[in-house]
Amino acid sequence: MSKIISVNAGSSSLKFQLFEMDDEIVITSGVFERIGLEDSIFTIKYNGEKDVTTLPIENHKVAVQLLLDTLIKKEIVKDLDEIKGVGHRVVQGGAYFDQSVIIDEDVVSKIDELKSLAPLHNPAHLTGYYAFKEAIPNAGAVAVFDTAFHQTLEPKSYIYPIPYKYYAENKVRKYGAHGTSHFYVSSRCREMMGNPEHSRIIVAHLGAGGSLTAVKDGKSINTSMGFTPLAGIMMGTRSGDVDPSVIDYLIEEVGLDMKEVIKMLNKESGLLGVSGVSSDFRDVQEAAANGNERAQLALDIFFRRVIAYIGRYFIALGGVDAICFTAGIGENSFFARKEICNLLAEALGIEIDDDANVNGKGDRLISTPNSKVKVYVIPTNEELVIARDTKRLLNL
Ligand code: ADP
Repeated sequence: MSKIISVNAGSSSLKFQLFEMDDEIVITSGVFERIGLEDSIFTIKYNGEKDVTTLPIENHKVAVQLLLDTLIKKEIVKDLDEIKGVGHRVVQGGAYFDQSVIIDEDVVSKIDELKSLAPLHNPAHLTGYYAFKEAIPNAGAVAVFDTAFHQTLEPKSYIYPIPYKYYAENKVRKYGAHGTSHFYVSSRCREMMGNPEHSRIIVAHLGAGGSLTAVKDGKSINTSMGFTPLAGIMMGTRSGDVDPSVIDYLIEEVGLDMKEVIKMLNKESGLLGVSGVSSDFRDVQEAAANGNERAQLALDIFFRRVIAYIGRYFIALGGVDAICFTAGIGENSFFARKEICNLLAEALGIEIDDDANVNGKGDRLISTPNSKVKVYVIPTNEELVIARDTKRLLNL
């Protein structure tokens, strides 16, 4: 019986799920938020109960120790040696990693080197790695990269049409993100389709952050995020694709500085920026339903940008067999799915089964037998992919 913990360490947060891997069951899960502040929050779910504690947690090391003490105190594990592996989510693996790897010194130095591409995330992942390594030194550690699934993109899809030297010398290219989710959802979709030899799948990961990926025969061939997660569709607070000349214009005409513009594009744009209401899809939907025109405009832009990528990927894949919806909006909003599919209906011959769309639960087909493209809802499970890779690589 091997227990594996899947860890997602952010700059001020740490999410975890502890799996019993023989049956792939989640034994406990939770999150530390506001690490480094006086009022950090520790939430842990176990046996159908949720404990939320507010207390000062100085750093990730203290958080990990508190987690492990809690596992013992609640008798979730009898001995910490039961935890055989720790799988770490890593946002940026650059061109070094096209799959998950056991973490050794070389891997640590590459994750560290790539911090210029993910300044908020990669250092936080290493902090999480060191915290677990110190607390449970006998457990193996594996890194699972958000970028790895997209390493199958060809240069014609990942090189930007700017002077080549910025790619060759400075590594400027498309890396993509949400790779673990796109891998999980597209693999599950192929399973649900009966594992055909050839498949053309578009995954729409629509959460606070969002991206679409074209998956041909199990391989990512293109994805909407770019050098960073700022590119692609409109998101909760990120703009997605805009003409870069807007940056210079705002600096010259409005007097913003570069940092302010980049912050605006990352934190004040998207659903929030257009609607002026909220970055949360539900709030924007409610405001639109109550007659708020800018909220309606925000939704309209959001849907347009999603279908624009679906159109591109339809062409890139040479057709499409299945479209999959996942993440917060994709999994939960029958309204968003219906609106997007309505906009695609005429061009792609999509027909949605309203009952399956509105009332169904979990992994499911939501298109009718007449639909020319199958449409699925597949809740993503990045933590499970992390735990599976950890088990496989550590031979547990
Ligand atoms: P993150 O990118 O932070 O992981 P999530 O995948 O949790 O984000 O997605 C968050 C988004 O999902 C928010 O915009 C939220 O409004 C939306 N969402 C969650 N539940 C629903 C729902 N029932 N209907 C519509 N949108 C929802």
